Amino acid sequence: MTRHRTVERSEDVRMAAPLLHEAMPFIAHAAIRTRGTIGGSLAHADPAAELPAVMIALGARIRLESVRGSREVAAADFFTGLFSTALEAGELVTEIAIPVTQVTGIRTGTAFEEFSRRHGDFALAGVAARVAVDDSGRCTLARVALFGVGDRPMLASSCARMLKGQSPSAEGIRAAADAAARDDIDPTSDIHASSRYRRHLAGVLTRRALERAFARAHTEGTST
Ligand SMILES: Cc1cc2nc3c(=O)[nH]c(=O)nc-3n(C[C@H](O)[C@H](O)[C@H](O)COP(=O)(O)OP(=O)(O)OC[C@H]3O[C@@H](n4cnc5c(N)ncnc54)[C@H](O)[C@@H]3O)c2cc1C
Repeated sequence: MTRHRTVERSEDVRMAAPLLHEAMPFIAHAAIRTRGTIGGSLAHADPAAELPAVMIALGARIRLESVRGSREVAAADFFTGLFSTALEAGELVTEIAIPVTQVTGIRTGTAFEEFSRRHGDFALAGVAARVAVDDSGRCTLARVALFGVGDRPMLASSCARMLKGQSPSAEGIRAAADAAARDDIDPTSDIHASSRYRRHLAGVLTRRALERAFARAHTEGTST
C-alpha cells in the first residue's frame, strides 16, 4: 500500500536503491504518484510500466500472501505476460524485498533511461540497468531489464553474456546494446510506435544506460 510519492521521497530508498529512486519521477505525473502504489503497479503488470523493470534489474523478491499462506517469487518470474502475473486468486502483494549487496572488491552502478512522447506518458521503450565491476574493472554482473518492448518486462540475457568478464569499452557496450535490441526483446507495433522504431530506441537507451551505469560503478561504486 506504499504510494509512489512515498517511495520517491524516501531517503532510505535513495541511499539503498538509487535505481528505484532515479526511476520514480518517470512514473506519470505527481498527481498520479500521490495515489498509485508500488504493489498496485507490480500487480497491474503494464508492460510499459517502469517499476516492474526496475525490480527485475535489482533482483527483487515479491512476497505474496493469502489465507492459504505466504510465498516469495523472484521479480523475474513474477511477470508472466500482458497484464499477467504469478498472483493466484486471493493473493496480495504484501512486501517487495530489494537485496542490498556489499561485496569487498566489487563495485556496482545503476542507471535508468526511457523515451516517451511527453514527460509522464507511458514509455515507448525504456531500460533499467545494474552492473558490477571487480577491482580490475572487469564486469561481474549486468542485469538489464527492458520495458515497453514486449508483452512484459524483459531481461536482456544475450546483452549480459556479452558484457560478463569483459572490461567494458565503448565498442563493447555498443555491441551489447545492439544485441539487446536485436535478440532480447519482441516489440509490437501500435498507434504510438512501430516495432522497428521501438527496437531502435531499445538499442540507444540500453547503450546510454550501460555507459552511465559502468561510469557510476567506476567512480561512485554504489552498494546496490
Ligand atoms: C493517467 C495515468 C498515467 C499513468 N502513467 C503511468 C506511467 O507512466 N508509468 C507507470 O508505471 N504507471 C503509470 N500509471 C499507473 C499508476 O502509476 C499506478 O501504478 C496504477 O494505476 C496502479 O494503481 P494503484 O496502485 O492504485 O492500483 P489499483 O488501480 O488499485 O490496482 C491495480 C490492479 O492491481 C491489483 N492490486 C493492487 N494492489 C495490489 C496488491 N498489493 N496485491 C495484489 N493485487 C493488487 C488491483 O486489484 C487491480 O487489479 C498511470 C496511471 C494513470 C491513471
